[in-house]
Amino acid sequence: MATLRFQALTNLMQKEAVKMDFPAGRVSDFYGELVFSDEAMKKYLQPSVYKAVKSAIAKGELIDRTIADGVAAGMKAWAIDHNVVHYTHWFQPLTDGTAEKHDGFINYGPDGRVIEEFAGKHLAQQEPDASSFPNGGIRQTFEARGYTAWDVSSPAFIVGSTLCIPTIFISYTGDALDYKTPLLKALHAVDKAAVDVCQYFDKNVTKVYSYLGWEQEYFLVDLGLYMARPDLMLTGRTLMGHSSAKDQQLEDHYFGSIPERVAVFMRDLEVECQRLGIPVKTRHNEVAPNQFELAPIYEEVNLANDHNQLVMDVMKRLARHHGFEVLLHEKPFAGVNGSGKHNNWSLGTDTGVNLFAPGKNPKGNMLFLTFLTNVMAAVYKGQDLLRSMILNASNSHRLGANEAPPAIISIFLGTQLSAMLNNIVEKVSDSKMSPEEKTALKLGVGRLPEILLDNTDRNRTSPFAFTGDRFEFRAVGSSANCAGAMTAINAMVAEQLVEFKKEVDGLIEKGVKKDEAIFQVIRKLIIESAPVHFDGNGYSDEWKAEAAKRGLTNITSVPESLSKMVEPHAKKILVESGILSERELAARHEVELEKFVKKVQIEARVMGDLVINHIVPTALAYQNVLIKNVTGMKEVMGAEADALTENEKQLIRKVSEHVIAIRSKVQQMIDARKVCNKIEDIEAKAFAYDKDVRPCLDEIRYHVDKLELIVDNEMWPLPKYRELLFFR
Ligand code: ADP
Ligand code: MG
Repeated sequence: MATLRFQALTNLMQKEAVKMDFPAGRVSDFYGELVFSDEAMKKYLQPSVYKAVKSAIAKGELIDRTIADGVAAGMKAWAIDHNVVHYTHWFQPLTDGTAEKHDGFINYGPDGRVIEEFAGKHLAQQEPDASSFPNGGIRQTFEARGYTAWDVSSPAFIVGSTLCIPTIFISYTGDALDYKTPLLKALHAVDKAAVDVCQYFDKNVTKVYSYLGWEQEYFLVDLGLYMARPDLMLTGRTLMGHSSAKDQQLEDHYFGSIPERVAVFMRDLEVECQRLGIPVKTRHNEVAPNQFELAPIYEEVNLANDHNQLVMDVMKRLARHHGFEVLLHEKPFAGVNGSGKHNNWSLGTDTGVNLFAPGKNPKGNMLFLTFLTNVMAAVYKGQDLLRSMILNASNSHRLGANEAPPAIISIFLGTQLSAMLNNIVEKVSDSKMSPEEKTALKLGVGRLPEILLDNTDRNRTSPFAFTGDRFEFRAVGSSANCAGAMTAINAMVAEQLVEFKKEVDGLIEKGVKKDEAIFQVIRKLIIESAPVHFDGNGYSDEWKAEAAKRGLTNITSVPESLSKMVEPHAKKILVESGILSERELAARHEVELEKFVKKVQIEARVMGDLVINHIVPTALAYQNVLIKNVTGMKEVMGAEADALTENEKQLIRKVSEHVIAIRSKVQQMIDARKVCNKIEDIEAKAFAYDKDVRPCLDEIRYHVDKLELIVDNEMWPLPKYRELLFFR
């Protein structure tokens, strides 16, 4: 019987791009047609209800029941006009991905006949029996109910025949069990803190928005080949596989022409995204073979994050129609680039000012410098918290692997801006500035926009780069929910802005003039956060040494990094601000540790099964071929065969050596797992898995990859790297 690999390869040869009927006309004609958008609300809601909803969205408030009934009626009418029969509360539990439980609109009417029913209570709240979502010990089985509650700030949308209502997810006791709840709180905190600081400069500012533009990287693999790789199917990455003779050395994939089958998939994906009101804009080939990127126009963080969650879902679904599987894992293939999700992030006011864009006059630039330096200080102090939100089992294969930002958190500013900050440190003394100094400084600051306009130096190796009018946090993993990173950043900056205001107000009270007080604190922040500022090559070994000297942390172990989530600084940022309670934070820590343990455990099991059931038998079968050859030669050639079969005999020996090594390593891994599994404390267990189980995976892999080079290609059961990475 042909192996799955060969069946898949044979099928693949016949594969063509799917013929698609894309909607005619302009994107703007169908953009957002599956969203209960402002336009739809105007059409389907009573004017008074519409007004109430808009005001609730603007203020971030809840909606009362009577209004909810009005909204539900309009939403139902709109949904039924779009052939919808189910509704679901769509939420983001602490697993990877989103959750939904569908209920039909169907119910019995008063006369016993079936009617379509969807009322305010269905819209506002659901009680999914969600006892098996990760909760970190918060949810006891006797209080297993969870509640989902409508997030008014993110519009409802339609997938297939289902109306999806974005919701938060909390426990019976009111504890957050999802990513969205703390994110919304962090966004609220940064709004408030930033408005207070903006008031120094402009009294008209009443709201500050946080914006996110994510860049989603992903791999596409032929579905048939994917199905023949149990490791990809069960763990999302290849646990073995010798590198392809050619992969990304020639740098010929990045920005290359997009293969037709892929291009058709991308167009299909874009159309679906655009119908869902997701402003996808950019697509291109990435560095590794079969690696691609999709990016939208940036949006307000909560909406942008919902859209990213939705996109990952839509991608997986549509890829199947095109005979592809999407890999969102951070490191599906060893030896070629992994996938990240750059988070482009900025803050902007309701007066239309981007707080990370230098202004047109000295006052605007003071505002800019204020926010820039506060971000620097926040990231410096919060480096460990930030990392703890993004370093997990899968992303740990990517961070620091010389293709992705290191596990050291630093900020890139570029030469011009760095020079500007140096200037401030040197010129603004703690004492009063002389009039000449003031003029010189104001002139310098006033020149910022043109300077930055010309400032095209882009540093790709920095985890947190200033890119002209925004920061780009590059360490986020491709499979991540951006809410983790976004909650941390916004919360950290909120806390720092509050500190900043306290200090400035303190100086003003002492009689220092406002402008000067602001300058003095800015200067202090620049000096204090200097260690986190690094414009050089983040991939270099010199940087590792230098960063250590500067006292920056460099943590690559997942459990160690996670422990920072519950340290005093993290608590100050998250708990004191009310973004998470102490209990919720502890629960999150536990959930992440558990996820880590389970992922390594699954990988170890899959590895064990694969080598024992696929690889070792194949190696032995090939060894038997060699043995037959040697004995056959002896029969035919007699004593002469001894010299002629020397190579074969060596290979026979090699195969045996690898097989013996594999078997003993697998046994060692199983024994280590047994010991680890007995450990009760989840943190100790995670550390043990990291130390004793995880390394076995690479050690076993080494021998498997060597065997792949020896064994007859026809017999090898698993699709090889050259096939996974180049067939499309
Ligand atoms: P890159 O050159 O970094 O690969 P891309 O064009 O792929 O850039 O993606 C940049 C992302 O940054 C887009 O989503 C874009 O909308 C977003 N972006 C641009 N300006 C801002 C901003 N002020 N705030 C947040 N995101 C932004
Ligand atoms: Mg890009």
